[in-house]
Amino acid sequence: MIRIGCHLSPSKGFMRMGQDALSISANTFQFFLRNPRGSKAKDLDKGDTAALMALLREKDMLPIVAHAPYTLNPCAAEARVQEFAAMVMEDDLERMKAFGGNLYNFHPGSHVGQGVEAGIGKTAALLNALLQPDMTTTILIETMAGQGSEIGGTFEQMREIMRRIDLSDKVGVCLDTCHVFAAGYDIVHDLDGVLETFDKQIGLDRLKALHVNDSLFPLGTHKDRHAPIGKGCIGLDALLALVNHPALTKLPMILETPQDDLSGYAREIRLLRGEAVDNL
Ligand code: FE
Ligand code: FE
Ligand code: ZN
Repeated sequence: MIRIGCHLSPSKGFMRMGQDALSISANTFQFFLRNPRGSKAKDLDKGDTAALMALLREKDMLPIVAHAPYTLNPCAAEARVQEFAAMVMEDDLERMKAFGGNLYNFHPGSHVGQGVEAGIGKTAALLNALLQPDMTTTILIETMAGQGSEIGGTFEQMREIMRRIDLSDKVGVCLDTCHVFAAGYDIVHDLDGVLETFDKQIGLDRLKALHVNDSLFPLGTHKDRHAPIGKGCIGLDALLALVNHPALTKLPMILETPQDDLSGYAREIRLLRGEAVDNL
């Protein structure tokens, strides 16, 4: 059975996320460690996080994925903005110690006019400053749609970031299906070819998680807009083939689709596991 869940909010506590995930038959999930806009976070409730971890071990729901605030820009031109990203990520990684051995995903940022090369250099430098030899958290760089001046919109750029990282075994990649499709990788008609390119340029052994989303916009449009599973330009058949692909099927998979409530995610999980669901 594939390991799949959705993005959940810790606003009602960490244990509650585990219970919510269980209630929709998820066996992993993703969450923010703080308000997604990147403001100050409350101190973690150690009892709550320990209870969650015990539940996740008992129910075989690991690994889970924490997502850095999406408003951070790790390669910003302005020093103040880049320092803020470094400070928040450092604090998040400290918090991740309560979830030992799990995944922390972030967006590599936008170079905003500095050029791709400068952006890649800054993001890699930030990672090198954050990585510690005794860290048990694996940091994931998310593949991006290449919207605006986003870096990470090509596998070559991902490789360039990874190549500059010293403690490279602490860093992996999270492939977002909507983002790579919008970036121009045709996972609908040529999934094998895309994975072969990924393997050549980054290495499939570096791929540690998937964000499974349909895309509101067509191939190569560089527009990052997620659609519910089966309701976008990627479509259910291609996403089913993807989650069942031998190179991908063992990875933790996270839905980041627009849904009003948990029942929408429960339905998408059943859909992607090939179980019977009500009409689309
Ligand atoms: Fe993301
Ligand atoms: Fe994503
Ligand atoms: Zn996105």
